[in-house]
Amino acid sequence: MISIKQVSKWYGSFQVLTDCSTEVKKGDVVVVCGPSGSGKSTLIKCVNALEPFQKGDIVVDGTSISAPGTNLPKLRSRVGMVFQHFELFPHLTITDNLSIAQEKVLGRSREEARDKGMKLLDRVGLKAHAAKFPGQLSGGQQQRVAIARALAMDPIVMLFDEPTSALDPEMVNEVLDVMVELAQEGMTMMCVTHEMGFARKVAHRVIFMDQGRIIEDCPKEQFFGDLSQRSDRAQAFLSKIL
Ligand code: ADP
Ligand code: MG
Repeated sequence: MISIKQVSKWYGSFQVLTDCSTEVKKGDVVVVCGPSGSGKSTLIKCVNALEPFQKGDIVVDGTSISAPGTNLPKLRSRVGMVFQHFELFPHLTITDNLSIAQEKVLGRSREEARDKGMKLLDRVGLKAHAAKFPGQLSGGQQQRVAIARALAMDPIVMLFDEPTSALDPEMVNEVLDVMVELAQEGMTMMCVTHEMGFARKVAHRVIFMDQGRIIEDCPKEQFFGDLSQRSDRAQAFLSKIL
């Protein structure tokens, strides 16, 4: 579903990604972790073509991001993205937050978009809040809305960038529960998160990044297995968060 091939990226003269390669198969749940500044956000933004890269290629469902003539807006519309800070439209109701891209990007009718939005809102347990504005919801609720909004676009893959790290601790689980459900339903997911409980529960693979490189990329069982087999840097990182 996603093939990342020897991607390198620079911000000016600063190399933020170095020769990153990995594959995410349909139905795979891949957790990406690593220290702050290691390039995790940049890498997943590249997958969504939100950030350009100078070397290598990323192929999403057969479409090469770097090939000339690729319709990037179309590709983006098929890749769901959930950010750390929700990024809901503050001036729109929850209903409208869920409908707007369905109408404007996918050309769905207002009724169809609302219908779909309500179903997804129900699914994340927030149907009663449809008429509210984002500012009237808790962080955990806003993040569930953001997930529902991404799902409304019928994505072929979902990307998450630290979706729980801006939340108060008591709200983390309500968001992780939605993500676990999605994973168990077979959604293809690439999740930047330090929630190792989530990784242990549903990840198929864990990627560890450091200084713009993919240092480890292995099955979950291996990643959490014999820690002495991990790289020094992964061990140092894991010793801080486990
Ligand atoms: P992570 O998500 O792992 O914390 P990021 O991908 O956000 O890491 O950032 C990786 C590195 O790239 C950091 O050193 C960060 O300061 C730098 N960086 C991120 N965005 C930009 C930008 N727009 N311009 C310049 N440097 C950036
Ligand atoms: Mg980040």
